[in-house]
Amino acid sequence: MSFAPLGLHSDLLAVLKSLDYQIPTPIQQESIPEVLAGHDILAGAQTGTGKTAAFALPLIHRHLTRSEQNCEKVIRVLVLTPTRELAQQVHQSFVKYSQGLGFNSVVAYGGASINPQIEALNQGCDVLVATPGRLLELAIKELIDLSGIETLVLDEADRMLDMGFINDINRILKRLPAIHQTLFFSATFNDDVFALSKTLLKTPKLIEVAERNATAAKIEQRFYEVDSQRKAGMLAYLIGSNNWQQVLIFTRTKQAVDELVKELAKDGIKAAAVHGDKSQGARDRGLEEFKNGKVRALVATDVAARGLDIKELQYVVNFELPYNVEDYIHRIGRTGRAGQAGVAVSLISHKEKYLFDEVKKLTGEEFLMQWFPGFEPDFMAQEEADRGKRKPSKKSLRAKALGQDAGGKAKVNKRRRR
Ligand code: AMP
Repeated sequence: MSFAPLGLHSDLLAVLKSLDYQIPTPIQQESIPEVLAGHDILAGAQTGTGKTAAFALPLIHRHLTRSEQNCEKVIRVLVLTPTRELAQQVHQSFVKYSQGLGFNSVVAYGGASINPQIEALNQGCDVLVATPGRLLELAIKELIDLSGIETLVLDEADRMLDMGFINDINRILKRLPAIHQTLFFSATFNDDVFALSKTLLKTPKLIEVAERNATAAKIEQRFYEVDSQRKAGMLAYLIGSNNWQQVLIFTRTKQAVDELVKELAKDGIKAAAVHGDKSQGARDRGLEEFKNGKVRALVATDVAARGLDIKELQYVVNFELPYNVEDYIHRIGRTGRAGQAGVAVSLISHKEKYLFDEVKKLTGEEFLMQWFPGFEPDFMAQEEADRGKRKPSKKSLRAKALGQDAGGKAKVNKRRRR
């Protein structure tokens, strides 16, 4: 099936032809007619399967077919995303799909100067792609008019409706016209969010083109049990011995990102870091250097887990499994995009095994944990760790009894007299 039977405007079909998009993906085939018909939708599809075009194309079509009297430049579409990087990417997709069609997309997110964003808005905006915090700032300062919003899109909807964002979303909803179309898109939906989203949508069409929480079909997933202190060495070995030229690595914390970047540098692997404590400039630079091959590895927290489309990225590594199990699907979904093949490797320490069980439960797949030759786990150490703290040595017990430190020196009261 080509795009033509979906009823999209001929100018839009010409753009798609120039992009060499020949066949709509399943999520596009199902969503485009529903969006055009004005329905609310709750759409789930695997990562990298063309969700952005699934909502962007019908919304641009609507703009192209608007009657002349109704052509005034007002913000009619609001797209909310959880991260700045995803906001930029969705904005770039709107720009790409509407090139030469007189449709303006503006992006607004925190951590960057608000003035150029206001200027861009003042030049006319059809779709505003924003993160919730910056949008509220603009709205509270009365710098934008949301009264013309016809469609609200929540990209990565389950993340947008979880504890971190729900209050902002509720505040934003109060500022929108009572009647508007709402579109929720995500690769994962947990049951709570599923229930909540139903209260926010009006008789929604449910579109699920794969089983809920499915991982993209062409991603090969490997799981290795390895001691945490040997993970960096094993990762460097994997990158070096397989000659991986572009690998995206996830850790759970900002600190772990910075430490791993240093560790990889010791092995001669140039890596950039992306996490929430980095300035937006540094985040953008890191991502850019990674995309254009200036650095071989990008080490990131889950700010880079959702939505990012890195062309032909083949390798994703979970240096640590995420606490939020849905993030596993989003992280590995940075590879295997648009039907390409990808490999996702997870390095799992003894303490993280319960997180591995959660991954199996969520995806419904019976993955096997493997050992990697040369990096097999040390079971003696594990047992010791399981037994709790190590027994104190005789030497340290004796020293304690004598009021000495373990080296045998008398302890001194370190408190200084004032
Ligand atoms: P998305 O899931 O929206 O991030 O899209 C994933 C990738 O698929 C992007 O690189 C898009 O440019 C590409 N893409 C989306 N729809 C199509 C299509 N119908 N044909 C070919 N490529 C597509």
